Amino acid sequence: MSIEEQYRTRAKELLAGGAVKMVIGYGKGTTGERRRPIFITSPDEVERLVLDEACITNLSGYLVSEGLLSDEKRVAVFLRPEGVRAVNILAAESQLDSDQLVIFGFDVVGNEIKALKGIHVEEFADVIESLKESAPGVAKELLLEKIESMSPQERFSYWQGEFAKCIKCYACRQACPMCYCRRCIVDSNQPQWVNTSSHSLGNFEWNIVRAFHLSGRCVECGNCDRACPVNIPLRLINHRMAEEVLGTFDHFAGTSKTQEPVLASFKKDDSETFIL
Ligand code: SF4
Ligand code: SF4
Repeated sequence: MSIEEQYRTRAKELLAGGAVKMVIGYGKGTTGERRRPIFITSPDEVERLVLDEACITNLSGYLVSEGLLSDEKRVAVFLRPEGVRAVNILAAESQLDSDQLVIFGFDVVGNEIKALKGIHVEEFADVIESLKESAPGVAKELLLEKIESMSPQERFSYWQGEFAKCIKCYACRQACPMCYCRRCIVDSNQPQWVNTSSHSLGNFEWNIVRAFHLSGRCVECGNCDRACPVNIPLRLINHRMAEEVLGTFDHFAGTSKTQEPVLASFKKDDSETFIL
């Protein structure tokens, strides 16, 4: 039996027995090679679930939809390792109770789907640990090749050119599982902290503020740069910040549901040399 069939069978059993109220998974998209999130609430619908190498979206962001988990019922969700990392962060930031989740873990190796053992976030600790060294290959290669060989001025010009394309649609924010605030600072106009216009200053402010907000929180799932309609390589910025956070604080985001947020926690014996 294929992994897709195994997970459909499990989804059917869980829904039929009332163990979960919903399964969040992937269904056919608008074209043959695309997949879209689907929300299954009846055992009769599980045949709509698809699991193949095109299932790349990190679905964890749907778990913090307003009211979804407030009735304390359980929800099953298809997650790749990045998705499990995101759930750990959401739990650590008190956005959800991971005990309410049944995880259908999977990964894509080459063109093959591999099932990941476990149901609860804690059971994926080894998989996440193994990502420390390997993730994310593509972003890392691009970063080294394209950016790290540049002088600071060339690098600044490179990002200036990329950010100039930004149209302030905020699709990156909407697609990101770590951007769950009901009201984002950039939507506030009294006071207006970040310029809302899509011009050089406003675009820089927006993208740099977002990069810092995601430092030590980004799981490098790529939802943001896939959503960006003008193809700004957003994951490169986030990957660079993740490297800094790993090197400076030995912090790999999303390793456990009790991991303290790196830029929002302190120790009493911190040296405070960073305070100017
Ligand atoms: S910033 Fe982008 S890559 Fe990082 S968690 Fe958010 S969507 Fe995923
Ligand atoms: S998705 Fe792209 S264009 Fe839209 S706000 Fe984000 S960076 Fe700008």
